Amino acid sequence: MTYDNENIFAKILRSEIPCDKVFENDFVLSFYDINPKAKTHVLIIPKKPFIDMADFLENAEIEIQSHFWSSVNEIIDILDLREKSFQIKSHKGKDGGQEVFHFHIHLLSNS
Ligand code: AMP
Repeated sequence: MTYDNENIFAKILRSEIPCDKVFENDFVLSFYDINPKAKTHVLIIPKKPFIDMADFLENAEIEIQSHFWSSVNEIIDILDLREKSFQIKSHKGKDGGQEVFHFHIHLLSNS
């Protein structure tokens, strides 16, 4: 599978379609899921084109991976979730429930 530049998150990254932004830096964009499955449901995506988590872990430079996870850490504070309960999920592949083929994690909390 090759990365499709026309996927919806690629369009969000190019500002071709809007998003409800939570956080942004040079490496990461985070925004609220359009169809929330919890009281708080945000998506966190790298700005570089990776198809899914397996692609990201295998092919993203360590610096990119490090900035990704430190951004997740910042977002946990922005959403005031550090002392609360939450889930992090990432779907990989159609049978894994993935609909958008730009790597992302879901951060979900009902706290
Ligand atoms: P996944 O099934 O892991 O690929 O999740 C894709 C997620 O993207 C779903 O939870 C959708 O609700 C969400 N989504 C799709 N389009 C948008 C959008 N334009 N803005 C925000 N979230 C979106």
